Amino acid sequence: MRLINLRPFPLFSLLLSVTLAFNCLAQQTGKKPNIIIILADDLGYSDVGFNGSKDIPTPNIDRIAQNGTKFTNGYVSFAVCGPSRAGLITGRYQGRFGFSRNPLFAPNDPNQGLPLSEETMASALERGGYKSMALGKWHLGAHKTQRPLERGFTEFYGFLTGGHHYLPEKLTLNDISEVNSQYAAYSTKLLKNNSRVELNEYLTDALSREAAEFIERSKDDPFFIYLAYNAPHTPLEATEKYLSRFDHIKDKKRKTYAAMVSAMDDGVGQVLDKLEELDINDNTLVFFLSDNGGPEPHNGSDNGPLRGEKGWLWEGGIRVPFAVQWPGTIPAGQTYEHPVISLDIFATAAALADIKPKNELDGKNLVPYLTGNKRKAPHKELYWRNHNRKAYALRKGDYKLVNVDGKQELLFNVSADIGETNPLTDPKKSKPFYKKVNQWIQTLMDPVFLGLSQGKEYNEQHPDRFDLEKY
Ligand code: CA
Repeated sequence: MRLINLRPFPLFSLLLSVTLAFNCLAQQTGKKPNIIIILADDLGYSDVGFNGSKDIPTPNIDRIAQNGTKFTNGYVSFAVCGPSRAGLITGRYQGRFGFSRNPLFAPNDPNQGLPLSEETMASALERGGYKSMALGKWHLGAHKTQRPLERGFTEFYGFLTGGHHYLPEKLTLNDISEVNSQYAAYSTKLLKNNSRVELNEYLTDALSREAAEFIERSKDDPFFIYLAYNAPHTPLEATEKYLSRFDHIKDKKRKTYAAMVSAMDDGVGQVLDKLEELDINDNTLVFFLSDNGGPEPHNGSDNGPLRGEKGWLWEGGIRVPFAVQWPGTIPAGQTYEHPVISLDIFATAAALADIKPKNELDGKNLVPYLTGNKRKAPHKELYWRNHNRKAYALRKGDYKLVNVDGKQELLFNVSADIGETNPLTDPKKSKPFYKKVNQWIQTLMDPVFLGLSQGKEYNEQHPDRFDLEKY
């Protein structure tokens, strides 16, 4: 409602009334809200302004928190990329369908990715009349049956692997037929729907531009955007435009990381500006979060007060920067402290789009909690399981039971002890928590594919993995 800033004047007042009446009409006719998920990759908990970053300004990501709500206890369902994304896009604990490892890049293998039994958010929203676009990193399967357009998305611009080069001159492979190793896939040209296209700019900039263009051409329909930046995941690559903003950071790794975060922040600004320009801001939910915690030594990220990092069920692996805006509905400038999880995004979208998902969801529609209509915590418990590491965790109220390696179980009051430094010692207190998490683990499947950490074993079983002629 940009007209609201105009000074009272009869003609303007008339315009204002007409615009208000039109908006009311749009609400009455039930135009469904647009949903945008902006997902960062391996972003540290403390590397956004709204979580206290001092050396990396993120004014645009912060706009989401200022326009809406920041979550201080916002979690993802796994501590590495692939399974976390599988949870996010299905709204279900990914262990329910055995997606408990990071998939390998295996374009010939239909089982190396999201099982077809699972419905994605895009498929569900398509039934509700939504157009959708996936941008950036997919990492939910490279087989032809697993790609975004086969999993409910109307459009795709990005790459299928778990990471990618950012600089155009590094994208030297014309297609996956030229890929002969896991990491060579980082060098493929990008896909636009099913076609390979040239990249003529910094990858992060291209993803932002494509997202803004999709908003422009979809403004009259309800739309869903899954903007999955690979920034600031390795390889650490940035352009001078962004590096030059960080001369105050002497450490080269941290400086390049900061430049990558800053490029993403500019992109978030482009998306938000486009929504404002088209006057659809009040009818659009924008979620921002990271897919897992920062891998601090690898990319120079900073998880601040949290213990641990990517890969682990300490808070540093699973508690992430997380915010949402829906101006006019979700109050601005709010801080929400009850635990929430990435799985809640699908449940929220399904409720707003008035669709019934095919499978039972594990998340909750957050809107009534954020508007104050529901006062209790959305979740009685949240759970995690890492099969490879024999690790598990449960969050219940202030408490967290965690065993990061199958060896030692610890109980913390994470509200009082965010750094998980002072384990509680009363075994009677842990027992009911363990019982709960153990019951939940019984509902999960074993992993349905070998993952990145089992690459050698997988290659032995599939010596023709990259030979497309064999399939
Ligand atoms: Ca990640």
